Parts: sequence; structure tokens; C-alpha cells
Amino acid sequence: ALVYLNGEFQSLSEARIPVLDRGFIFGDGIYEVIPVYGRKMFRAKQHMARLFRSLDAIGIPNPHSEENWMALIQKVMDAHPSDDQMVYLQVTRGVAKRAHAFPKEVTPTVFIMTNPLVLPSAQVRADGVACVTMEDRRWLHCEIKSISLLGNVLAAQHAAESGVTESIQFRDGWLTEGSSSNVWVVKNGVIMGPPKDHLILEGIRYGLLQELCEQHGIPFESRKITQEEVFAADELMISSATKEILPVVRLDAQTIGNGAPGPIYQQLYAAYQAAKHA
Ligand code: PLP
Repeated sequence: ALVYLNGEFQSLSEARIPVLDRGFIFGDGIYEVIPVYGRKMFRAKQHMARLFRSLDAIGIPNPHSEENWMALIQKVMDAHPSDDQMVYLQVTRGVAKRAHAFPKEVTPTVFIMTNPLVLPSAQVRADGVACVTMEDRRWLHCEIKSISLLGNVLAAQHAAESGVTESIQFRDGWLTEGSSSNVWVVKNGVIMGPPKDHLILEGIRYGLLQELCEQHGIPFESRKITQEEVFAADELMISSATKEILPVVRLDAQTIGNGAPGPIYQQLYAAYQAAKHA
């Protein structure tokens, strides 16, 4: 396996960055995670568009054209033995003397690696997963896919210490998202997700689920959702590149719906698998 770092393809153990990289010093950078099925990136265009939005949002000049990005990723993918992979790419502002504001002359650090894609097992999908609620204490630019992930790290650790799959966060009583996933509520046949604003990261699966719902005649709404509505859901789901869609059947001490993965989940999961292999 190879990684790409600043123009070089090398082994992960050889890859080095200077300690004054602003990613290390300030968490000053952005990233992407792209699922690969059968050696093909899934929703590559959408991931590229989000990468470019992230760079733009924090004023890092895009170091590559879309074509170049795709070629670099392809080379890293080709060197990996797995057919199904999870590509991770990160761009930081670069290396400079430590001072908070943007340095004048600086070259972005670009890193690409890939790993086998490990999806939830059939047993986990059949049973559904448990989650815990917590207050969302992250910053107010959650729409940027920033490498400054301390809030998300603490939320994931809270889930781990609670022995569950994910933390579901609320800000002042309103549903936001998981530590590394979007959250979906089904009530009376309608699937709902929180608005695409600065309080959540718009997952690539957000648009995908919206499209799949449209294709299958499932009513879809983006709107503010209360904590009470989440607990009263018929079905609850989380989505991310590495989880695809997962049914949540327990939240804190409460059972969601009838405690088993529901029909809308089943339908969307089947549609997701079909889209993957299309
Ligand atoms: N929200 C957060 C905070 C995330 O980190 C992620 C991705 O891991 C998502 C949502 C889901 O995004 P995607 O569907 O692009 O994986």
C-alpha cells in the first residue's frame, strides 16, 4: 500500500511532516472520507465538491484540479489490495512559523491514504444499534469538514464509554448529528433530517438519501427536529460513508419504535446497495 504526501508516493511508515505543520499546531485543515466499492469511488463528484467547499470555507487555495485529485486518489487506490476501500484525504494550510493568522507564503500539505472499507456486519444490521444522547458542545461551523475534531472525538468517546455505537447530539433541545454521522428520524412514513445549516456537516449520504427517497416515493423533509420527536420516532437511523445507513433501536434507556429495524430502513438500505452497484 502507498500513501501520497506532497508529490510523493511512499509507504505510510516513511511518510513524515514537519512539526510546524499547521494541521499539527492548530488543527488548521480539512479532510474527506470517500468510500470505494469494487475499486470505484462512490459519489466521487459529490465528495470532490465538498472538498472544494471545505477548502474555500477556510481560505486554503485548492492545490489540484478535480482531474488531478482523481488521478492522485486513483494511484493510491490502485496500490491497495482491497476492492472495497475507504480513502482518507487531508489538506492543511501548510508549514509556517507559529502564529495564528494565515501565513503569507505557505504551501498546503496534501495527504492521501486508503484502508480496507469495513462495513457493519449483517448481524449488526439485523439487530440494530444503540446510541446515547448528549448536548452538542462543538463550535458553530459544523458545516466545514475540519480536521479540528476534538468535539467529535469527545462525543465518540462518550459513546464508547457508554458501550454504544454513536452519540446523538442535541443543541438546545434540537437534533444536530452524531459524532461522525448524520441522523434520520422516521415518523408516519416521513423521513426527516435536520436542516443543512452550520450546525451539521452535510454528509454525502444526505443528498443520496434524499435522491433515494425521491426514487422510491418516500416523503422526505429537512426541518428542525426536537429531542421529544427523536424519542417518539417510529424509526431512527444514522448514516455515514463507513456505516452506510444503520438502524438505531435503542436511545439511552429507551426503545425506539418496536425495537427492531423498520420498513423504511429496510427499503433505503436495499436502495443504497443497488445504488452502490449501479
Ligand atoms: N457528520 C459528521 C460530523 C461526520 O464526521 C460525518 C462523516 O463521517 C457525517 C456527518 C456523514 O458524512 P458522510 O455521509 O459524507 O460520510
